[in-house]
Amino acid sequence: MQVMAIPEPVKGAPDWLPPDAAAFEAIERTFLDVAALAGYQRIRTPIFEHTEVFSRGVGASTDVVQKEMYTFADKGGRSLTLRPEGTAGVVRAALQAGVPRAGGLPVKYSYAGEYFRHERPQAGRQREFNQVGIEALGSDDPALDAEVVLLGWEALQRVGVRDLTLRMNSLGDREDRATYHDVLNAFLDDVENLPPDVQQRRHLNPLRAFDSKAPGMTAIMANAPLLIDHIGEEPREHHRTVVALLEGEGVPLSHDPSLVRGLDYYSRTTFEYQAGDLGAQNAVGGGGRYDGLAEDLGWSERFPGIGWALGVDRTLLAIKASGVDIPTTPRVDVFVAVADASLQSDAFALVTQLRRAGVASDLAFDGRSMKAQLKVADRSGARWTVIVGPDEAARGVVTVKDLDTGEQRESKRDEVAALLAAAATGREAAE
Ligand code: AMP
Repeated sequence: MQVMAIPEPVKGAPDWLPPDAAAFEAIERTFLDVAALAGYQRIRTPIFEHTEVFSRGVGASTDVVQKEMYTFADKGGRSLTLRPEGTAGVVRAALQAGVPRAGGLPVKYSYAGEYFRHERPQAGRQREFNQVGIEALGSDDPALDAEVVLLGWEALQRVGVRDLTLRMNSLGDREDRATYHDVLNAFLDDVENLPPDVQQRRHLNPLRAFDSKAPGMTAIMANAPLLIDHIGEEPREHHRTVVALLEGEGVPLSHDPSLVRGLDYYSRTTFEYQAGDLGAQNAVGGGGRYDGLAEDLGWSERFPGIGWALGVDRTLLAIKASGVDIPTTPRVDVFVAVADASLQSDAFALVTQLRRAGVASDLAFDGRSMKAQLKVADRSGARWTVIVGPDEAARGVVTVKDLDTGEQRESKRDEVAALLAAAATGREAAE
């Protein structure tokens, strides 16, 4: 037989094996649970969209749209893109469904899934990554901004991210940004040897200059005029209310007037959560208001919104880096071992009974020796081993061993499933 190499995984597309995959899901679940407590309901949208959803929604000047999208033509020649973020697709879906006119606003959605960006892979930055997000659509109320920001804060605290910080800014309204663009462009006109990335994008969106990683740019931008000084009274008041509500709840936020974030749709509130235990890629989540996004996507009226996305992969990294244990449940509660291969069908029947009674259980395969089976039982994390032996089978009993206490006793074969089901439920209740 010809020996072939195992195909490599795609660069930047990680595998998650047990137990990490379970930890990953536990984080996802906690984020979604926190959102559900505030009435956010699950929404599922496709992993790919027509490219214009992102080019119009996320914005032509962004790194995401300019360089990072996985875009391809399908067999019908349509340009499709694997979603690089969640908001544009969720807003598109809400507009398609006529949500703005259906009443009952704001609507609150939560979602979890895979996202794709062609970035240079490094620790905490992948080409396929996972986010949990929430979006609240159809309201301008600053209390909704505060709710959204607070939920992200609480969700990250709840999963155990340590040294969490929150940076906030207001980008004002679009009109403010238009005026400010002129002010900022005038400032950039006076900078000698502007790096090519800023030079290229400044006419689409000069705010990107704050994100530039080119050498010396951070120092230059430290003297740049700030958007926060050029925003109107209404967004300024909006921002004050959001901040006051958050401070009222004891959230230690810091103001960062250079926080513009990488997506063009933001207006007014923007924010980012950072984890102290991560290195360069320390943003575990972020978001903001996007009051013009619906119109960018072609909706004829204003339909404001606000949301965040938390990075699940990066959160897991942060938690691991800080040495916090993520509780994972044992693989099974009960392991059934047989003293003789002829009893395998009885073991099969017993695990089926147990599983039907809601008890996670497993048995050995491949006709292994008792010693080997007990090893597998041990590795399975099971609390109880049930041993099915020929003498016991003849008497209608099995042996149940409690691996926590070492206690061993006989139990009637036709009662053991109910007995273990009760014990497993009692154990869950006690935990
Ligand atoms: P963004 O959609 O860019 O606002 O990102 C929100 C969060 O998603 C970030 O704070 C990260 O935690 C996570 N994230 C974004 N891009 C990546 C990536 N390439 N790899 C891993 N996580 C990412």
